[in-house]
Amino acid sequence: MNRGRRGILVVLSGFSGAGKGTIIKELLNRYESYYALSVSATTRAKRASEEDGREYFFKTKEEFEKMIENHELIEYALYVENYYGTPKAYVEEQLAAGRDVILEIEIQGALKIKEMFPDTLLLFVTPKDAVTLKERLTTRGTEEADVIDARLFRASEEILGIEAYDYLIINDELSECVDEMHSLIQNEHRRVSRNEEFINRMKEELKSFSKGE
Ligand code: 5GP
Repeated sequence: MNRGRRGILVVLSGFSGAGKGTIIKELLNRYESYYALSVSATTRAKRASEEDGREYFFKTKEEFEKMIENHELIEYALYVENYYGTPKAYVEEQLAAGRDVILEIEIQGALKIKEMFPDTLLLFVTPKDAVTLKERLTTRGTEEADVIDARLFRASEEILGIEAYDYLIINDELSECVDEMHSLIQNEHRRVSRNEEFINRMKEELKSFSKGE
């Protein structure tokens, strides 16, 4: 559905294990017509539950480096020894079609996007405390112990960059968290600075009244 407005670019970051994937899945389930999810390219190994083109486009290092060379990515980053990047074409197409585009990316990529597109909305997801984070990473069972440790260490670095984000989303109760995220994004459309066209039209119309037209 095109709501007659351009979509907002929304970055959702958060610690590995914070539940970003689950939140996004539920957001799309409930409010499908509002959002488009950007599917990233990565060089990390595919998990058993994943499908090429659904969670990620899985690439070799050489293929990924070709995409960088050809300027096919809006941004990319190295995260725990693998490349991750956002393909450009889909994002531009969906924003123009009026959908809010969700990028689920880590913090270096988020900061690059904000620099290039200052009106990006940056959201950061975290569980309610660090113990819950460790439990989630462990019970997910998709990573080896050393990878879990690396991801926890990365979390301790990532929290240092949190000030660059606009809103914090605490993922305690999934359903509430999803509704809160939807409200935050939809309220953002009402921000005065995002409604220049509407305001200019209103100004012109009011001017014509004062001229007695
Ligand atoms: P995972 O291996 O758990 O799927 O993802 C690892 C990290 O990479 C997560 O923090 C995820 O948000 C981030 N990530 C996924 N896609 C991209 C991307 O296109 N660009 C950047 N910069 N980070 C990404």
